[in-house]
Amino acid sequence: MASSRNPKRHYVENGPISTYFGQNVFALETMRKYMSDAAFRSILEARKTGNKIDRKMADEIASAMKSWAIERGATHYTHLFQPLTGSTAEKHEAFISLKDGDPMERFKGSALVQQEPDASSFPNGGLRNTFEARGYSAWDPNSPAFVLDGTLCIPSVFVSYTGEALDMKVPNLRSIQALDAAATAVARLFDPQVTGITVNVGLEQEYFLVDEALYNARPDLQLCSRTVIGHTSAKDQQLSDHYFGAIPSRVALFMKDFETEAYKLGIPLQTRHNEVAPNQFECAPVFSEITTAIDQNMLLMIVMQKVAEKHQLKVLFHEKPFQGVNGSGKHCNWSMSTNTGVNLLSPGKTPMKNLQFLAFYASVVRAVCRHDYLLMASVCSLNNSYRLGGHEAPPAVMSVFSGSTLSKVFDAILRMEDVSEPGEVRRSIDLVSSIPEIIPDNTDRNRTSPFAFTGNRFEFRAVGSSANAAGATFVLNAAVAESLKLFRSRVDALTGKGEELDKALLTVIREFLEEARPVMFEGNGYSDEWLEEARRRGLTPVTNVPVAFQAFRKPESVQLFTETGVLSPNEIEARVEVQEETYVKKLQIEARVIGDICLNHVIPAAVNYQDILMRSIQGSKDIFGEEFKDLCKADIETYRKIAGSINALSEDTQALVEARKKANRMADMTRRALSYSTEVMEKMVRVRESADNLEMLVDDALWPLPKYRELLFF
Ligand code: ADP
Ligand code: MG
Repeated sequence: MASSRNPKRHYVENGPISTYFGQNVFALETMRKYMSDAAFRSILEARKTGNKIDRKMADEIASAMKSWAIERGATHYTHLFQPLTGSTAEKHEAFISLKDGDPMERFKGSALVQQEPDASSFPNGGLRNTFEARGYSAWDPNSPAFVLDGTLCIPSVFVSYTGEALDMKVPNLRSIQALDAAATAVARLFDPQVTGITVNVGLEQEYFLVDEALYNARPDLQLCSRTVIGHTSAKDQQLSDHYFGAIPSRVALFMKDFETEAYKLGIPLQTRHNEVAPNQFECAPVFSEITTAIDQNMLLMIVMQKVAEKHQLKVLFHEKPFQGVNGSGKHCNWSMSTNTGVNLLSPGKTPMKNLQFLAFYASVVRAVCRHDYLLMASVCSLNNSYRLGGHEAPPAVMSVFSGSTLSKVFDAILRMEDVSEPGEVRRSIDLVSSIPEIIPDNTDRNRTSPFAFTGNRFEFRAVGSSANAAGATFVLNAAVAESLKLFRSRVDALTGKGEELDKALLTVIREFLEEARPVMFEGNGYSDEWLEEARRRGLTPVTNVPVAFQAFRKPESVQLFTETGVLSPNEIEARVEVQEETYVKKLQIEARVIGDICLNHVIPAAVNYQDILMRSIQGSKDIFGEEFKDLCKADIETYRKIAGSINALSEDTQALVEARKKANRMADMTRRALSYSTEVMEKMVRVRESADNLEMLVDDALWPLPKYRELLFF
């Protein structure tokens, strides 16, 4: 039995973490030792400018990387990229080659800089015609190479030959550039020493663990990463006894193991704990520069899955593997800091520092308000649609929680009669200077907001646990860049007319806060009243995922992406198409799986049990004659209920097939996705209802699938 499995220990590391931290990463410090100064400088240059590394240098860098990797036991290399599916992709090639018949290890600069992952069909939304223009992956020198399981992994971007982005990384890199330019221009109003900003991200990763044997007995977990049927367990999270509870020893050893591997890969994991649902856990690293943070998160998911195998566990990163208990997110903590080391979302000690904080705060919330629906759409996927708006998950409508201290300050700023009056300016500057150091305080935290301020950063909580966070951050970065650009130009316009800087700043901060007012909400985001109120305020809740995808096609979104240089109209179109197609395909698989499970597992089990009941009833009649009606009352009733559910199930399964066929006939992908999200989805819900009813009626010994109470508890 799964629960009696012995905990295992694999990597026994002696000594403190710092002695092996990053040992499998070809980081800058290591590079310096393995190559000439010229080659090393060319990497630094490429990181700074984004320019290509020349051929000769690339050969030297490749050779250095190969020597280092071989010392670490690598035999193969791969470009690792982040396709539009939201996962990661890799194609391994051996270093080995033959020279005059003799084997030798070889790795040329051209192979480092560029790899063609075949004409294999990564989703591309019509951007790449497989027979003429293939996509290629290219090393992103911002992300260091590393060795994992005997393979040198080279973090890469994935683009078409015409240079269009086919992955999640390229738009994110472009959005960082846009934000850097816009935020630097605003920060320089306060400190001319500032020449650049860094976007910082800390990703909290939630996940479920299940025993591998139980996982293998559930075709739905294997094929869809979630249970498509399953009755809730009598006890799950009602008592809140799992959250922050003692970590089961089997799990603790798994954690220790994957953390060790992660540390070797330079991933600075810091926290681990139980989450709210049974068998749900979370880990989080110390935040870092955004591309590093996202690359490392993608890598962490790979590492966790690999290490789990050794513990006979499966990690479920799906947003909602189990109906009725909490889902999983990837809370994205996001902030900006200057090259002079100042966190731009941290209130300071002087009035000017606080004005700077308010300038950035107001620009962010204005951006979130202006693009509320697009931002929610950026976290939408089939998986996340089962979670958002559900049990203890962020609601599907955007709002920003600021906390009581800040809200009071904003209210006061907004109440100011006329900032152009000298007295008012004085008073408001006094007010601004009175913003206390806002220390993250758990009593002033609102867990019901999808976008909450937590003292020195925003926490975008609606991002899904299995998602590539770049899908959300490139939209956020772009929106904030747009806002900051406008902020600077409005301030310039005012000071150009002779307005004093602090007055001008305050005026624009006020305008932006006023504009952001609809999205600011301090109350309970889970309540029905909020949903109504949000609509009244002009915010748009996500009620249907394929409809939400259309947010990318709206004129203001196209303007946002093109003006910030993050996506071209072509690339936007391609992305929406890929999202729609992925949605349809995933739901198609789920619909097939639920149909198969019902026909091949559920109905046969129910019929078996009917058979047993029937024999018992018949036997009773043979022995007791007419008295059997009284004696077998309950059995007869159960038999009838089962028969009813089987009939309903078989009709609903048939209806599901019809709904799928109807949807598949639609040539237009948007219409097909819509049809899947309504008609197919509705039929799936009905199928599940009957199947779950049967689970409660049929003898446990005959039930062919592991149940929630088995899957959810170690
Ligand atoms: P909680 O669950 O209380 O929100 P965690 O400790 O689980 O907090 O995770 C918080 C995450 O936020 C960590 O990854 C942390 O490094 C990150 N973080 C802290 N400060 C910042 C910041 N200024 N910018 C971005 N991320 C930050
Ligand atoms: Mg946390």
